[in-house]
Amino acid sequence: MSDHSTQNHELPEPAKSPNKLAPKEWLSGLKTVNHFAQLGNQFSSKVLPLSLDNPRIVDISPEAAAELGIDENQNTGPLVDLLNGEYLPESFEPIAMLYAGHQFGSWVQQLGDGRAMILAQIETPSDNMWELQLKGAGPTPYSRQADGRAVLRSTIREYLCSEAMHALGIPTTRALALIDSDTRVYREEVETGAILLRMAASHIRFGSFELFASRNQPEQVRTLADHLIEHYRPELKDDALPYLSLYRDVIQRTADVIADWQSVGFSHGVMNTDNMSVLGLTIDYGPFGFMEAYDPGFVCNHSDHNGRYAFNKQPDIAWWNLAALGNGLLPLLELDQAKQAIEEFGGLYQLAFRNRHLKKLGLVGDVPEDDALIEDWLNLMTQQKVDFTNAFRALCHFSTEADTPAELADLFTNSGDFRRWLEKYTSRLALQEVSDIDRQRQMLSSNPKYILRNYLAENAIVKAQQGDYSEVVKLRQILSHPFDEQREHSSYAKTTPAWAANLSVSCSS
Ligand code: AMP
Ligand code: MG
Repeated sequence: MSDHSTQNHELPEPAKSPNKLAPKEWLSGLKTVNHFAQLGNQFSSKVLPLSLDNPRIVDISPEAAAELGIDENQNTGPLVDLLNGEYLPESFEPIAMLYAGHQFGSWVQQLGDGRAMILAQIETPSDNMWELQLKGAGPTPYSRQADGRAVLRSTIREYLCSEAMHALGIPTTRALALIDSDTRVYREEVETGAILLRMAASHIRFGSFELFASRNQPEQVRTLADHLIEHYRPELKDDALPYLSLYRDVIQRTADVIADWQSVGFSHGVMNTDNMSVLGLTIDYGPFGFMEAYDPGFVCNHSDHNGRYAFNKQPDIAWWNLAALGNGLLPLLELDQAKQAIEEFGGLYQLAFRNRHLKKLGLVGDVPEDDALIEDWLNLMTQQKVDFTNAFRALCHFSTEADTPAELADLFTNSGDFRRWLEKYTSRLALQEVSDIDRQRQMLSSNPKYILRNYLAENAIVKAQQGDYSEVVKLRQILSHPFDEQREHSSYAKTTPAWAANLSVSCSS
């Protein structure tokens, strides 16, 4: 989608005399490897970040910093310089990645990082590999007519959501920090430019493979696949058919991550193939939304008029996208093998979905009726428009030996249907030898109390736009422990208040 600015831009000016000697402490202990950059200019283009005016730090994620072995309590100056492209260590080679993709089902033969650049790929002392990527650091050869910028609003949403998803245990790109600035960025109105430092082991997308296959460049497809196997899936190297194993691996991980989304009510909003990670990470937080009142047809992206990416279509779309990836991998696979592999997606997804929902309902053992029990529970929520997150969370407090807690019963307006379901649930619980206490404990660690509701993000954004970043910090802190009661923050578990009922989000900004 291209509702971003359409002004003409030259390619980026080099960052104003990048300071190669800037303090190293933020990056000490990290080894630069740049494996992807070394694949060469057929896969990416060299770029340089373009600084923002008067940059200031909004927040730093201690959890993301810990992944890099960084102490987030040190002087933030060098980090601001790094995010703002004013500090570029000698070993860093900023690149924009080339890819293509299917956007809303239509083939786009070339996309690429239009406003993102991988500064470097680094290895931590514990041998974890991360690509450090700036998002919003100015135009690249793939920006088409757009400005290469990201506004504060969308940057805060991505920052908060990627860290929140991680805390929920869902594979995702991460976010180390974000800066705000005085640079004016033109969208529907004038906003301020911001830059996010995003991290992922790799940012390779389904569309990366599609691009080279569509250009009839099988060697490049092979190079990409070899790169993935060598650095991310070395265990597949000795398989009889390593490329088929790689495809199967992506299929399995995609089934898992979509089941994760469905089990927390997360709608991605733009599941284009350029926004699908071959590592099975949630990537590209744009018009995403967490469902409140359970509605399988929920569409979070207001530009998605046909509901292509509706909540309940996400598994089918994932299948469609995996088929597109299969086409991208065809130079390395037999058609029959690829078809057979993707046919397994439905079963893998169903299994992953079932397992997550059994956990959410506190059920153990293999009881065939459980599928119906899960479905009835979801149907009950749909009919009564009950908040998805709060209903699961309230159910955690249900005990077979006590009255139904009011916080649970009060969610359901038609108490007859609810009681009937609860009776079935109670009988099912009787089939397992798990104490109420143990079941409740396990359920509380599978059903979050806190999710990034749109209005919470909006509150933080409005304050940040006035120069007060405290709500971003607070929200990040609360969402980093989504399963904890945090009673003092219970108001953050409330559903959307009337003032925020009509908030809308659409594509890239
Ligand atoms: P998205 O909808 O965020 O996945 O973006 C789709 C494509 O548009 C990607 O190639 C992005 O890099 C590019 N893009 C989105 N916003 C901008 C922008 N402000 N400047 C340059 N490219 C952009
Ligand atoms: Mg994208």
